[in-house]
Amino acid sequence: MILDGKQISQTIRAEIREEVQILKAKGLRAPKLAVVIVGNNPASETYVANKIKACEEVGIASERIALEADISEEQLLDEVKRLNNDPSVDGFIVQLPLPEHISETTIMSAIDYRKDVDGLTPENVGRTVQGLPSLVSATPRGIRELLARYDIRTEGKHVVVIGRSNIVGKPIAMLLMQRPYLSLPGMSAASLGDATVTVCHSKTRDLAAICRTADIIIVAAGSPKLLTADMVKEGVVVIDVGINRVEDDSPRGYHLVGDVDFENVAPKASFITPVPGGVGPMTIVSLLQNTLQAFSQTLKS
Ligand code: NDP
Repeated sequence: MILDGKQISQTIRAEIREEVQILKAKGLRAPKLAVVIVGNNPASETYVANKIKACEEVGIASERIALEADISEEQLLDEVKRLNNDPSVDGFIVQLPLPEHISETTIMSAIDYRKDVDGLTPENVGRTVQGLPSLVSATPRGIRELLARYDIRTEGKHVVVIGRSNIVGKPIAMLLMQRPYLSLPGMSAASLGDATVTVCHSKTRDLAAICRTADIIIVAAGSPKLLTADMVKEGVVVIDVGINRVEDDSPRGYHLVGDVDFENVAPKASFITPVPGGVGPMTIVSLLQNTLQAFSQTLKS
């Protein structure tokens, strides 16, 4: 069965739109997301445009803050501080990657974790590890939500995560191994967590043998056809996070593929995400959920 991230994300968008309308009906302002983009990386421009468009569709206010590529780290830090202190902004993100002369770690660390809707600050990561309420980075949050909406339980299951990045591999491993006390407002928490998680990376020995013991495989490596049919057991659940460009003769010159040999793995899988249309749309909708969550927390404080 296909895990249809596109359809589920549309359902969640409709839910968010309704929540925003309820807030407005109560006389409250709409939640607001600000997106800071430095320089003119074409991929970043596309991601930012998609995020702004997604906000507009659900009634979340948004602001695009474009800064020159040669801005100093200090100037960017000033902008972060301004946004931290702007009460009209509930959440903001600084689109990565940043130009080489700016330290991403320094910038991420300066963001107020209560407004960190990308869930990348050390505070939010630490809170997630400790099982405290936190803003979880968008892709792991989206994967967890997708599993929950299809009622795919993780308790006692062996989950193999391929990839150990800070934005996908590590946080999804952490979420799925947690006791399910980690509650995320607005999220279907049902029976997620309590998995036995193995995290693999490029130095892992005999990846295939490890994957063959997995009930659920989450691949976030950025390597086309890394996961092949001989590496999975019958009935496995496969979540393909990868987005890779493969050149072709189409007018666009390329098409997108994931990290899974979909054609051959799908017949063995009980559930599998397509690329595109799987994890990608869930990532954007998770950012909207995080913005709503950040807004609610502001209201409580
Ligand atoms: P990174 O490049 O930061 O991390 C990739 C990870 O995969 C690393 O830990 C690396 O190991 C591991 N890896 C790479 N090749 C292999 C291999 N052959 N065998 C085992 N492990 C391997 O990538 P990200 O986590 O940022 O992204 C991963 C993919 O997901 C990319 O294609 C990206 O475009 C996509 N992505 C998709 C999103 C979505 O919304 N759908 C959101 C974010 C990312 P090591 O640490 O040893 O180098």
